[in-house]
Amino acid sequence: MTQKAISFDQVYKTYGNGVEALENVSFSVDEGEFVFVTGASGSGKSTMIKLLLREINVTSGHISVYGEDITQLTHDRIPFLRRSYGVVFQDFKLLMDRTVYENVAFAMRVVGASPAEIRRRVPDVLFLTGLTAKAKVYPSELSGGEQQRVAIARAVANNPKILLADEPTGNLDPEIADQIMDLFEDINEAGTTVIMITHARDLVDRMHKRVLSMERGCLVRDQQDAQYASGEELPHED
Ligand code: ADP
Repeated sequence: MTQKAISFDQVYKTYGNGVEALENVSFSVDEGEFVFVTGASGSGKSTMIKLLLREINVTSGHISVYGEDITQLTHDRIPFLRRSYGVVFQDFKLLMDRTVYENVAFAMRVVGASPAEIRRRVPDVLFLTGLTAKAKVYPSELSGGEQQRVAIARAVANNPKILLADEPTGNLDPEIADQIMDLFEDINEAGTTVIMITHARDLVDRMHKRVLSMERGCLVRDQQDAQYASGEELPHED
C-alpha cells in the first residue's frame, strides 16, 4: 500500500491581523508523488509550506506528515520534523562566504552527520546536481542556475523524504528553469516526494503532474496530469 507523505485535513489558517490565508483545505500526497501548487499571489501557497515546516501552526484542522499530526508537536520535536524535508527557495539562500562543497557539507554538519559521512555524501550530491567541477567555487562566481543547483544539492544532502520548493525557478531564464525542473524530476524519480509552488505555466504544462490550484485561501482544483489552468479564468501572474 502506498504511504501518505502529507495530509491536510480541513485546515484553516487565520493570521493575527485577521487575514484568512487558508480556508478548509484538505488534500493528501502519497509518498513519491510530484505535486505542483499554483495560484495567484496571496492565495495561500507559502502559508501551506510554513505550516508544513511548523514555522506557524494551524488555526484549526490537522496536518499529518508520515502519519504524525504535526499540529500537535511540542517545540522540542520540531527540529526532527524539519529533517523530513529539503527546502528550496526562489532566492537560493546560500552561504556566500563558503564554497559550493562547504554549503552542502554545512547542511549535513548541522544535523550531526559525521565527517566520514560528509566526505562520502557531498561528492555524490554534487555529481547528481551537475556541480562536480564547481565544488571549490564560491556562489558569487556561479550563474543563477548553478546557484539554484547548489541549493538543491544542499536540500537533498540529508536524504529528505520530502522536497519542498517555493518558486524555485522564479529567478531563472526559461531554458535554465527547464534544466532545474528536470533535476527535480530526477530527484522525484529516485523516490523523493516533491511539492513545488510555481507560477511557471509553461513548466507545469510540460510536466503533466498533479496540480493543486489555490484561490483566495481555498483549494479550488486538485487534478492529475493537469495543465496550469483550465477554463477561462486564468490565475493572475505576479
Ligand atoms: P502566496 O504564497 O500564495 O502568495 P501567502 O500564503 O504568502 O500567499 O499569503 C496568503 C495571505 O495571507 C495573503 O493575504 C497574505 O497577505 C497573508 N499573510 C501571509 N503571511 C502573513 C503574516 N505573517 N501575517 C499576516 N498576513 C499574512
